[in-house]
Amino acid sequence: MRNKKNIYVYEKNKEALEFLKDFFKGHGEYSASFFPDVKTLKKSLKKQCHAVIAGSPEGLERVKALGPGCPILAMISPDDATGGLSSVVKHNIESYMLPPYYKEDLEYKLRTVSTRKDLFESLYSEKNDLEAVAELTYMLSSTLDPKEVLYLVVKKLSDIIKVTRCSVLSIGLGEKRYASVVSTFESPVIKDIRLDLKKYPEIMKAFRTKNAVVIKDAMTDPLMRSVRKIIAPIGIRSIVVAPVIFRDEVIGTLFLRTSRAGHVFTDREVKLVNAIANASANALYNAFLFEKVASEKAALEKLAITDFLTGVYNIRYFYHRLDDEFARHQRYNTPLSCIMFDLDYFKKINDTFGHRVGDIVLREFAQLVRRHTRKNDVFARYGGEEFILLLPQTGLQGAVVEAGRLREIINAYRFKALKGSKAKLTASMGIAACPHKKIKTQDNLIAFADNALFEAKNMGRNRVVVFR
Ligand code: GH3
Ligand code: MG
Ligand code: MG
Repeated sequence: MRNKKNIYVYEKNKEALEFLKDFFKGHGEYSASFFPDVKTLKKSLKKQCHAVIAGSPEGLERVKALGPGCPILAMISPDDATGGLSSVVKHNIESYMLPPYYKEDLEYKLRTVSTRKDLFESLYSEKNDLEAVAELTYMLSSTLDPKEVLYLVVKKLSDIIKVTRCSVLSIGLGEKRYASVVSTFESPVIKDIRLDLKKYPEIMKAFRTKNAVVIKDAMTDPLMRSVRKIIAPIGIRSIVVAPVIFRDEVIGTLFLRTSRAGHVFTDREVKLVNAIANASANALYNAFLFEKVASEKAALEKLAITDFLTGVYNIRYFYHRLDDEFARHQRYNTPLSCIMFDLDYFKKINDTFGHRVGDIVLREFAQLVRRHTRKNDVFARYGGEEFILLLPQTGLQGAVVEAGRLREIINAYRFKALKGSKAKLTASMGIAACPHKKIKTQDNLIAFADNALFEAKNMGRNRVVVFR
């Protein structure tokens, strides 16, 4: 019943109507619906229909005006054969029935128009598929963000194919056990879910053969035998895995599945998935390459501003930021402070524990202070066992509080490298802060902080002194 082709009938002539009713009664191939007015016909046309039969001339005029989107077969009225025929010619209708009507004649004509409709539909969907691939290729060329590329691919796929799940997987070079899900349609942010390939023989096969793997029915396909127990409860029906190949190497796969209630992938869909996999290869490769270069660049940039031994900013970066912050201070009159640190009796640490341990202590010290400063503050190694902290948007008052707090943290901290000894490490600090009438340049700021530090040393160390 379900597979019968739908034919809609809009016919007023009694004789013709009787003939049609008799023809369709109990017909094995067609199921006819008779419409008394154009309004209800128009509504029903939204559903799948193989052909409309309309009485000519009146009915034909009206049906033609609806633009039914399927072939029309005209029944030329026995009452007005001349008007009917001229209407058929006028509307360019290829198939028509002339009275007297014969069943064999209608049978033949219906078959012709409905096959034409099938052909038309397959051409139409192929055109849509081509458009989708073209559109995707265009979109992919406009972005270099791999995540965006991947998301566009899965989104386009799930737009045109009814799937339960649709993802892009990647597999590392030489990797044999795991693939990772790099994008899925359900969630654009999902990332780096690992799939154990032992449980996915279909993915493994696609990687190995570099060809698409199509599983029409996962419950009966021999390839899935080893994992049937795992997939049975999930209710997977049909699977397509299409490799994304760049320069003869599989760099990922498209992975589509339908659930038990869903449909089996058609040949047309498999073709489309393959076309999209091919179209994505270049974009995917470029995007990954771009990301790799970008992250290498970021790593190099970080290296260039980092002190090798302690991992905090180096003095070059400090001066660069000082330029900016001092300019901002002068332009907007915002406060700016600087704290200079010098470790107390550090020579003794080296003498007692060796230079190597001294290095580790320096690193521990630097990381300790960095952890306890704000993200906007610039903490750098000034040289040797001296450090410097720039506090943007902070006046003298704030800097004094900050230095006192840090001094206590340092005093309370037990250095791992000095573990087991009673040795303690303290620091002396000198503060200079703007606005200050004597501080006119950034060099003044540093020099005055240094002066204050010198005074802190003189006054006995492990203390904070402010330049006045
Ligand atoms: P104080 O500052 O309290 O006057 O005494 P101090 O012993 O710290 O004296 P000073 O600041 O004059 O000397 C710094 C010492 O720190 C000298 C040097 O051996 C040591 N030092 C400087 N840079 C490094 C380094 O990168 N690694 C190690 N292990 N030691 C360093
Ligand atoms: Mg020193
Ligand atoms: Mg020192």
